[in-house]
Amino acid sequence: MTATLIDGKAIAQQVRTELRDEIESWVAGGGRRPGLATVLVGDDPASAVYVGGKQKASAEVGIEGFAHHLPADTPEDDVIALLHELNGDDRVSGILLQLPTPDHINGSHLTTLIDAGKDVDGLTPVSAGLLAKGLPGLRPCTPSGCIELLRRHDVTLEGAEAVVVGRSDLVGKPVAALLLAENATVTMCHSRTRDLEGVCRRADIVVAAVGRPEMVKGRWIKPGATVIDVGINRTDDGLVGDVEFASAVEVAGLITPVPGGVGPMTIAMLLRNTLLAAQAADAAASVA
Ligand code: NAP
Repeated sequence: MTATLIDGKAIAQQVRTELRDEIESWVAGGGRRPGLATVLVGDDPASAVYVGGKQKASAEVGIEGFAHHLPADTPEDDVIALLHELNGDDRVSGILLQLPTPDHINGSHLTTLIDAGKDVDGLTPVSAGLLAKGLPGLRPCTPSGCIELLRRHDVTLEGAEAVVVGRSDLVGKPVAALLLAENATVTMCHSRTRDLEGVCRRADIVVAAVGRPEMVKGRWIKPGATVIDVGINRTDDGLVGDVEFASAVEVAGLITPVPGGVGPMTIAMLLRNTLLAAQAADAAASVA
């Protein structure tokens, strides 16, 4: 068997096109145009590229951009003041504090100051708590992207055996919570899991989020299973995932390539979160 590839690039583009239409009809119907504020402190070139990419993608779907670029020596209190200001600004539906921040700024603490309604990364403790309790809230982008890929391929989640390898707050835990919310039977694996191969082999859906190049082998995959590879590992042979693609593609039914699988979905889901945040804010304002 050779698996069908899940084309994340095409699906992400489809989501973005749909979002552009949704945003235009939302605004035409009197909704406030969604706005995304990015806060970048310092001159880390990679961070500047990420932030620039997010702002460009926002503009393409009709989200208003508020890009704040602060000098590297900005006092932490000034960044805190800016976050409070953005929390109170009705034009801003979503706020992103780009990490890492310079050493004198506690970036992960400052992220917790972002209003949960504007936490479009979905990574604050409040958002994580809402997800854990199954309450409405903004969900983390990469995990939501994994679910979107499964949905767009009509993968049955209800009752499916799903195995998530990796338990980070960024990917593993939220993707497991999202699969559970879809009524999958979820097993979470990590570095102390016994017989990882055996656990993976019983899965209808394997999500690999480990950060170890090609760790999950084709022989670990049940024939016909769906494989979602979140890993992004730079090696001498180029970019590879956490799944050994060459062997897994021979066994799986559906599989994401790396690159071009999960990766492109993250920004698409960030844009969707920004629209959802704007809609939730309008709904809250109308009942207030
Ligand atoms: P992370 O925080 O380093 O977490 C890795 C997880 O893998 C941990 O829970 C760890 O277990 C587990 N693990 C490590 N070695 C293992 C082993 N030998 N067997 C089983 N489990 C093992 O990584 P992350 O942030 O979740 O990222 C995972 C991968 O996804 C990385 O390649 C990252 O680059 C990629 N990623 C991609 C995107 C995207 O596509 N946009 C976004 C985010 C991350 P313990 O908890 O026991 O240590």
